[in-house]
Amino acid sequence: MLHSIYSVSVFCVFLSFDVRRSSTSSNCELACASIAESIPHAFFLRDEGVNTLWDSKQSDVIPACRVEPSNPEEVSIILKATIEEQCHFAIRGGGHSRISGSSNAEKGITVDLKTFNFIEIGKDKKTVRIGGGSVWGDVYRALEKERLMVVGGRVSDVGVGGLTLGGGISFFSNKRGWACDSVTAFEVVLPNTSVQIVTKDSNLDVYWALRGGGNSFGVVTAFHMELFERKPEIWRGMRMYTFDKIPELLAAQHKFVTEVQAQDPDAVAFFPYGYHQPYDLLMSMPTMVHGTHNSNETWPAAFDDFKAIEGIPDSTSIVHKPLSDCTDDVALMNPYGMRTIYQTITYKVSTEVDRKILEIYQEELQPIKSLEGAVPFIIFHPTPAGHTDPMKKNGGNPLGLAGLGPLMIMQTSWMWKNKADDEAFYESNRSIFERATAVAREAGVLVPYIYQNYAWESQDVFAGYGKENQARLKKIQSQIDPDGVFAGGEGLSKGYFKVNMKGKHGNTKAQQTKDEL
Ligand SMILES: Cc1cc2nc3c(=O)[nH]c(=O)nc-3n(C[C@H](O)[C@H](O)[C@H](O)COP(=O)(O)OP(=O)(O)OC[C@H]3O[C@@H](n4cnc5c(N)ncnc54)[C@H](O)[C@@H]3O)c2cc1C
Repeated sequence: MLHSIYSVSVFCVFLSFDVRRSSTSSNCELACASIAESIPHAFFLRDEGVNTLWDSKQSDVIPACRVEPSNPEEVSIILKATIEEQCHFAIRGGGHSRISGSSNAEKGITVDLKTFNFIEIGKDKKTVRIGGGSVWGDVYRALEKERLMVVGGRVSDVGVGGLTLGGGISFFSNKRGWACDSVTAFEVVLPNTSVQIVTKDSNLDVYWALRGGGNSFGVVTAFHMELFERKPEIWRGMRMYTFDKIPELLAAQHKFVTEVQAQDPDAVAFFPYGYHQPYDLLMSMPTMVHGTHNSNETWPAAFDDFKAIEGIPDSTSIVHKPLSDCTDDVALMNPYGMRTIYQTITYKVSTEVDRKILEIYQEELQPIKSLEGAVPFIIFHPTPAGHTDPMKKNGGNPLGLAGLGPLMIMQTSWMWKNKADDEAFYESNRSIFERATAVAREAGVLVPYIYQNYAWESQDVFAGYGKENQARLKKIQSQIDPDGVFAGGEGLSKGYFKVNMKGKHGNTKAQQTKDEL
């Protein structure tokens, strides 16, 4: 509602913007004006302030306005305004989604959590309270000073919010599960706009749902996570190999996830294979990490098989340095401002399937490899029992992975420069996925799980969590959000993956009841 002269003037600004750009809906103009009136310090016009998003498809999106609340009560005021005026919104955590509109709302309100960037270590040093808009590099730097650590992401500028709500693969996952498994409490503004602290004891259902169920349950303003003691430094080894070494690499990869990681829980790795345009060369560059090995001159025994494979001359790099430095390095390799697709499947470990996928990759690469800025990669993420066993703790999580390891999560990471090339990359990605999925299915190793944080928008993430978990997520979501504010479709909270759909193309309330029967 427009009551003050201030909000009338903001409304006039919107009207004058409309003359230039007819994209802003009047509902959102009213909601923006209402927020500008109640919390002016948090309000930014669509082009004001800094709205940094990792993928340039996301930056192409122009919101009606952007808000930077600084406490849960302000988030609640914002939600009330969007509901009252029926304006759609998107929540920005660390801004690393590749899907357009995930964390920036086209003609709607972008709720930017960047001021929720605090890290408060508990007095007993058992847990840490982390702001819902924090990024992992800041978290690690703060904890390293105290020789403490959490299970978090592998790249400094990725958000705690999106990563943890979707799962969260970490360098510590082989001992402690994924990031979501370490959360002891969520401070959340629920869809009914109330501010609550959700724990296993206060609300087991919502606590369970938030540990992998994504952004369908409210705005998380803080995560309380388990701490553990450790030195800041980790060992990281990288070596580049040409593609003729694929047979040896895949054999080493298979042994690593099926045997080595069970014997040595401090050993983790991910295995990228890709085309390097500047050298016109196909290369693999395993990133190997060890939690306790102390020397930057020797390799831990866990990586002996990789050490034995001849790499590209002078391509080996070994460091022993703080985790935050290592995650900064990976951030530098993933620059802002590119266009990207991630897509993913999961299968029971199979060297034969890995090999066939890499063959398909080399065929599907041809139409895109010369396009400007092309950085197309396949990344294999080993997911041994060390990851999936801890998923049973604290009442379990909804991912449907508990006890299923060893698995391989295969991810494409297609990066390119120009919008004009979008269709070419989408097409090649679609084709590789169709073929890779068929290969894994024919080999009898495909599992339904789709990792939300590496998924593309066309993928049915929650179906992959299993029928029972999906039904439970839907039920919890409907119970806490009967009006579907955080549902997909015609719900107001837009972007990423939604547990329930609202409106004629999705699950209406009646349909949800039918689903449950
Ligand atoms: C370079 C790079 C490296 C990565 N490394 C890893 C890795 O090591 N391990 C791993 O598991 N994944 C990794 N990912 C995937 C990453 O987990 C997802 O992209 C994740 O969604 C990023 O979260 P964000 O907060 O940065 O992004 P955002 O785009 O801000 O958020 C993603 C979605 O989560 C929602 N969201 C974010 N914060 C909140 C909140 N506080 N409350 C409610 N909803 C919220 C938003 O609505 C948005 O739709 C990586 C991604 C990139 C691009």
